[in-house]
Amino acid sequence: MLTPADYEVVVGLEIHAQLSTQTKLFAADANQFGDAPNQNISPVSLAHPGTLPKLNRQAVEMAVKMGLACGSRIAQYCVFARKNYFYPDLPKGYQITQDTTAICQGGHILIRPKGLPERKVRLKQIHLEEDAGKLIHSAERTHSWVDFNRAGVPLIEIVTEPDLFSPEEAHSLLYEVRKLVRYLGICDGHMEEGSLRCDANVSVKQREQSTLGTRVEIKNLNSMRFVQKAIQYEMERQIECLLQGIPIRQETRSFDAQTGQTLPMRSKEDLHDYRYFPEPDIAPLVLTADWIAQCQAALPPLPNALYERFTQVYQLPANEAHLLTEDKATALFFEQMAGYSSHYKAIAHWMMSPLKAHLNAQSLSWEAFPVSAAQLVLLIDLVEQRQLSHSMATQQALPALLENPTLDLQSWIKSKQKEEPSDEGRLREIIGQVIAQYPDKAMAFKKGKKNLLGLFMGEIMRQTKGQADPTEANRLLLELLDNVASS
Ligand code: ADP
Ligand code: MG
Repeated sequence: MLTPADYEVVVGLEIHAQLSTQTKLFAADANQFGDAPNQNISPVSLAHPGTLPKLNRQAVEMAVKMGLACGSRIAQYCVFARKNYFYPDLPKGYQITQDTTAICQGGHILIRPKGLPERKVRLKQIHLEEDAGKLIHSAERTHSWVDFNRAGVPLIEIVTEPDLFSPEEAHSLLYEVRKLVRYLGICDGHMEEGSLRCDANVSVKQREQSTLGTRVEIKNLNSMRFVQKAIQYEMERQIECLLQGIPIRQETRSFDAQTGQTLPMRSKEDLHDYRYFPEPDIAPLVLTADWIAQCQAALPPLPNALYERFTQVYQLPANEAHLLTEDKATALFFEQMAGYSSHYKAIAHWMMSPLKAHLNAQSLSWEAFPVSAAQLVLLIDLVEQRQLSHSMATQQALPALLENPTLDLQSWIKSKQKEEPSDEGRLREIIGQVIAQYPDKAMAFKKGKKNLLGLFMGEIMRQTKGQADPTEANRLLLELLDNVASS
């Protein structure tokens, strides 16, 4: 008797990313999301007779950058193709895409799914194509409108091999793709706005079997969570079918986010015949080795290389290195600070906690952080050199810096010391009083009741209204307790 555990799921993703070029793939209309309908159109994108496409260099460059970042082979000669079908959002009656010669071939993306081993997922290809317009249907389903702003917007389609073996791995792949396109600055990655969209091809097979099962394609998944949920549902559905002896139909399905189910859209029988043929209005695209090398040289630092450096050179733990390389602005800010000081651990903690808190509160990005990396490092170093307590630094010095980003920290500290007795002096005094308050407890502590430390710490925190730096207070408390004369 077979059970669900005897089966495994196999997934291949097709991911569409809208390239953030100034203009469309074959026309000079603005490529701009969110404008009023039919603002960004022209005779070319509306396919008026006699108009001709002209290829956008920036789009080619972006596609090549993605390929280079994924270790793909870049085709030095490729042709565009017409994919013919009729739909009201497609003015020409065909989409210009690439059929037999994709601009990027092969390559891979490293995934790090939670709780699973990291793995390289092979890519089949990345090709360039144009987007279609958008249909908007009235709530009563009596009218439809068409918005051609999106018609002709450049897309890259990233096609993976059937090389993903769980919903979590598929989720992770999409996550890494979004991170990468954002690092490269070629797509904003906003799935909710449709600039990143995903189709998932899903099949199941018995584990020891080497041939793949019949696949179902789930169309238009527009969130990472939905991708994972849809694959999970589809995997369970297909396994259930096979256990009951029902063969899987090759078909296209949609995902209903409300019910969490996939539903049939069309079956193999009504598969389109797209009658692909080479696009006669665009000359073959020829890329020289020199030009490709220039694209390679222009690549920004990429997340995997940064992650390696953060763990190897800066010796940060894996989870911190992940957090700090999640987006380029964060990673580069860390890099800047690390250029000024080797207190990498402290820099990481400052970035993840007090500095991040300020960014969140003000809805800022790291590029817009009001205080320079150099100044922040001065502050962090002062704490590391014990010239300033951590709580003084976060609760007073940082706000002062935010108020006046060019503040001279050394003189600020001097003026503070004049204003009030030294932090440490005050704290010593308070701790001395607390110990004097509980002489018997102090003795008991010395005789081995180490858990009494909590009582002292609690009292110190109460008396300092939580202002004392816990590490500092702990250190002084141990020192003063040690000085208590044994009876
Ligand atoms: P087509 O030519 O029909 O578009 P492709 O070979 O280009 O098919 O594959 C499209 C996508 O489907 C790819 O991402 C690929 O990895 C995936 N795929 C192909 N066969 C299977 C399968 N049996 N199970 C899961 N995914 C598959
Ligand atoms: Mg295909």
